[in-house]
Amino acid sequence: MINQNCFKNLKHDGRNTLLKQKTYATFDGQKSLKSLPELCLDLLSEQKQEWLDLREGCKSLKSIRERDLSCRGFSVRLQCNPMRIKSSTADVGKKNVKERQCILCVDHLPDGQQGILYRNEYLILCNPMPVLSSHFTVSHLDHRRQAIDEHIDTLLQLMADFGSGWTVLYNGPKCGASAPDHLHFQAVPSGQIPIEKEIRREKRLTLMTQVDRVLLYHLRDLGREVITLEGDDPMAVGGTFKRFLNALKKVLLVNEEPMMNIAGFYKERKWRLMIFPRRKHRPEAFFRKGNARVVVSPGVIDMGGLLITPVKKDFERLDASAVEGIYREVSLEGKTVARAIDAMEVYQTGIME
Ligand SMILES: [Zn+2]
Repeated sequence: MINQNCFKNLKHDGRNTLLKQKTYATFDGQKSLKSLPELCLDLLSEQKQEWLDLREGCKSLKSIRERDLSCRGFSVRLQCNPMRIKSSTADVGKKNVKERQCILCVDHLPDGQQGILYRNEYLILCNPMPVLSSHFTVSHLDHRRQAIDEHIDTLLQLMADFGSGWTVLYNGPKCGASAPDHLHFQAVPSGQIPIEKEIRREKRLTLMTQVDRVLLYHLRDLGREVITLEGDDPMAVGGTFKRFLNALKKVLLVNEEPMMNIAGFYKERKWRLMIFPRRKHRPEAFFRKGNARVVVSPGVIDMGGLLITPVKKDFERLDASAVEGIYREVSLEGKTVARAIDAMEVYQTGIME
């Protein structure tokens, strides 16, 4: 199934050989017998047989507990998932990231792991510590930093290739990415993150502005800031996204990527990006000592309303007001987001670079 042409741009013979070993199938966007989701699901069932860690991870997902909480205006689902302790407490500080072995580099992948070579640039891998069934990581072949401005086109392309029924996710390097130094996205089946239901209620949506036929909505009463961009031309959606990103930088007076998580949905030739602007990665309670510590480390899935609690005690004691407090703390303030949207109108430079 491996197309030899796919490797022509890869520099090192050694890595080519390794990549061949790690490639279960290729997807290059050409018409093929199987769609991308079909290839990924084939990979998953094969990997469950060949790779023990994944098999165990998927098995443990079947016995986890979940419970719903009604917060003011919205609901969340808590998931008690002890497997996620490593990821939730990962030291993502610069020093540690530099010193540790990168978990997404091809030459560090575990023995049994294989992936789908995606458009000759990424490897789609099964996540051995899944939060949802069929949880995939889309990892760049090169070790390069997590950054959305240069790679928003890939996110939009992935959304179209996975198609409706799937959600493509992005975590900013400082707010949820467990490998902030290695570019990656995630893909999961749609319909499992609570906010997907919440946004179906029309009254939540306020149209704020329209740029190049892309609609920008603010979502009300969700206890955290959520913006959506919606359009039928991926170039225009990407351009408007960059305009929003640049406006946020301007308002926050930063040069680096403003903290954010993104969930992408594709349906009937429409691209919809749901953006969660952030001001903090972890809430203050995460850093408390002893019994007062609450292990929550919100990334995009948590911001979407599926809050992962690896510690049983936290799963049992978190209530609606505690969750509302966590969202308030880690989400960017409404007035800052509103200022960024206003700034989009006048801020024209640096949009299409
Ligand atoms: Zn890496």
